[in-house]
Amino acid sequence: MPIATPKPLAGPKLSKSKPDLSGVENLIRAMVKKHRTPFMMIRRSVLEKQFQRLRKCLPEVMPYYAIKANPNPKIIKAFVKLGAGFDVASGWEMKHVLSLGASPDRVIFANTIKSTEDIISARRRRVRMMTFDNEPELYKISEHYPGAQVLLRIKVGNEGSVVNLSLKFGADPENAYFILRKARSLGLVPMGLSFHVGSQSKNVENYLQALEISANIINEAKEHDVPLKIMDIGGGFPIQHFDNEIGVNFERMAFQIRKQIRQLFDKKVQFIAEPGRFLVGPAGILVTQVIGRTFRNNKNYYYLNDGIYGDFSGMVFDHCKYEFKTLRRGQTFLSALAGPTCDSFDTLSLDVEIPELYVNDVVYVKNIGAYSSASAVANFNGFAPAKIVLV
Ligand SMILES: *Cc1c(COP(=O)(O)O)cnc(C)c1O
Repeated sequence: MPIATPKPLAGPKLSKSKPDLSGVENLIRAMVKKHRTPFMMIRRSVLEKQFQRLRKCLPEVMPYYAIKANPNPKIIKAFVKLGAGFDVASGWEMKHVLSLGASPDRVIFANTIKSTEDIISARRRRVRMMTFDNEPELYKISEHYPGAQVLLRIKVGNEGSVVNLSLKFGADPENAYFILRKARSLGLVPMGLSFHVGSQSKNVENYLQALEISANIINEAKEHDVPLKIMDIGGGFPIQHFDNEIGVNFERMAFQIRKQIRQLFDKKVQFIAEPGRFLVGPAGILVTQVIGRTFRNNKNYYYLNDGIYGDFSGMVFDHCKYEFKTLRRGQTFLSALAGPTCDSFDTLSLDVEIPELYVNDVVYVKNIGAYSSASAVANFNGFAPAKIVLV
């Protein structure tokens, strides 16, 4: 028997969703016929577009893709082809990118705390450049990888960034010169500085201030005969998650960053960045289907075949909010969306405005390529995360 359409208490509203001009929905319709849901489509054209946007706006800066955002092998291969470097944080990630064709001199081991085992692994694999932010780490590196090239990560402001990284990482800039000199005295090669302004950083001031602090350190070090060649400006570049979102303008941010770089730094300093979210986030579209529906708490509840433990894990770990879209148009109702597991926590939204949906209807989310499948649990309750399909 078909479920009778319940009368939601919240008055119906006309759908505000705009027609799909980009052809994304036609692509989804075609893909749903070929693949079982849930699946995550990664569009190669968008990976390339994001990479070229970075290259164009910041031509002095070489991007090292931070693979923790999405370590899918096909994505890594796409970036190898585009000529990107890679930011890895563990022995596993290092092995992963090298096995997919990355060159060891284009890999940075950008975790300031590394296990002895992983330092030895870096040495064996000839990944020479790494970050650090404390003296005990220097003793460890010098013992297991003499001659390693080290970048000191300094602590900088993370105001306004969605994910704060300064609470856990970064040396006090005041001690920078002394600790770099220490690195040299231990037989390491002090190469430069790095910072991270926090992820999804919409506040360009964070970058401008971090660059100013860095330039001062580089000048001080140069005066004392510790020339630094590399400036790593980290990741953090923001993306838009909602169609009508304001306040994210990468081009404008990059323009100001570039101006600051040109004003404050010697031409000989080489710049690298470690973007993660910016490169893969916009490329990803997650496609799920409704597997059940009910009426609870005066609204329609739709249960999807992907949830918090799967590809929506970014709602927990990445503090991310997503725009849920459907292929239906017309009147919208205040509704709830939940994942498939037996945990009430696996609820995605209690107040989403969507048209009435039926079992097997598609619910999709754009701009979800980063920090989504990467942090999904493998098989909680027997539900596997979405298959990744490059298109
Ligand atoms: C996570 C991380 C990145 C990538 O950050 P995004 O905000 O995704 O660009 C870069 N560098 C380091 C050290 C990180 O921990």
